[in-house]
Amino acid sequence: LSDKLSAVFDRLTRRGSLTEADVNEALKEIRRALLEADVALDVVRSFADKVRDRAVGAGVVKSVSPGQMVVKIVNDVLIETLGETTEAIDLAAKPPVAIMMVGLQGAGKTTTTAKIAKRLKERHGKGVLMASLDVKRPAAQEQLAVLGRQVEVDTLPIVAGQTPIQIARRAMEAARLEGYDVVLLDTAGRTHIDEPLMQEMADIKSYASPHEILLVADALTGQDAVNLAKSFDERVGITGIVLTRMDGDGRGGAALSMRHVTGKPIKLIGAGEKMDALDEFSPQRIANRILGMGDIVALVEKAAAAIDAEEARKAAARIAKGKFDLQDLCDQLAQVEKLGGFGGIMGLLPGVAKMKDQIAKANLDESLIKRQRAIILSMTPQERRNPDLLKASRKKRIAAGAGAKVEEINKLLKQHRQMADLMKSFGAGKRGGLMGKAAQ
Ligand code: GDP
Ligand code: MG
Repeated sequence: LSDKLSAVFDRLTRRGSLTEADVNEALKEIRRALLEADVALDVVRSFADKVRDRAVGAGVVKSVSPGQMVVKIVNDVLIETLGETTEAIDLAAKPPVAIMMVGLQGAGKTTTTAKIAKRLKERHGKGVLMASLDVKRPAAQEQLAVLGRQVEVDTLPIVAGQTPIQIARRAMEAARLEGYDVVLLDTAGRTHIDEPLMQEMADIKSYASPHEILLVADALTGQDAVNLAKSFDERVGITGIVLTRMDGDGRGGAALSMRHVTGKPIKLIGAGEKMDALDEFSPQRIANRILGMGDIVALVEKAAAAIDAEEARKAAARIAKGKFDLQDLCDQLAQVEKLGGFGGIMGLLPGVAKMKDQIAKANLDESLIKRQRAIILSMTPQERRNPDLLKASRKKRIAAGAGAKVEEINKLLKQHRQMADLMKSFGAGKRGGLMGKAAQ
């Protein structure tokens, strides 16, 4: 797939910003990649629309192709959609806190129940009780008991012939009496969604009032993911999603589909049959898996970082020659603004750390930076290169253009002179010194 993509990118011409044609061309392949990753068709469509809105007209970082730029934007939108933050299981309620596991048969509910129990006990020191409410599948309750012994977490004793509600009641009563912090309710599944299953889940919910209802779904779930997540969310009301079998071949497009239709966070990832194979959700990891283009994303990020470094190097070279005109100041102010402070590009310039105090004293806050740039931008290129040209009449013209007072221009010019002197003392004054090296 990556080969196919690079072919498309090669055909795209390099431009300053992304045109609609660039984006549409790249989106064709992106759409295919998402479908191959099992993202549901409807989700692919609305996702592509979102990307198009964001991408058309966006700037292309130098040394990457428009197609690569689109991939980076797709990646960003993907991460936003998946949810940028990791949300842990919420236990902030009066104990015993009930957590209900729901999902289709074979999704991994029982396995995940035991994994979560182990984690809550070991990492959070919680007293955990597990109960299997699966009376459909023979030996389902025994399966949980076996896992319970394995992870050394208590399971509710099995009583034959009880309904799921009766088991849930027994579990909650036992937990209250014996002082457990958390009760994990493992429920029955079906091979497909049906009304009796949904009714059973709704009944258990209204009885046990779980604080968390986690939908457990297989990473290989394809087009069904939308219907699955929607049904469980509408009928039962899920609070989060656990995606299992991420150790397999599935590319996990179900994560995007389910998150998109429910807006509920993906809380955990199952990545194996072992009891420790439970990972925190990482949007970047899932995005890489779905898109399969982590390399391109890294490339664009590297290119963007390289440009900042290149600009810093150029600036350093000029400063080393003792040159620091108003255009340089304007560029620096733009960089400062873009990077949100002096920690960024200015920090990259050797020797600049010493200057920071001076700059701080000059009181460069954000609105001032904007005003100063506006003043410089109202000058002609010659004036920017040679501030000596700026006599009274020119200053008046610039003040009118920038909506500023002449005093403000004088203040800016004075400040520039101080900075230029400082630059000179760091640069030309010390050939072979720090600045000289940076310029080579
Ligand atoms: P349930 O019917 O939803 O309770 O599903 P189970 O917990 O019984 O799991 C069904 C099968 O999937 C078992 O053989 C599990 O070992 C396996 N399984 C569960 N989670 C994972 C996972 O994250 N990765 C892999 N490879 N297998 C899993
Ligand atoms: Mg089960």
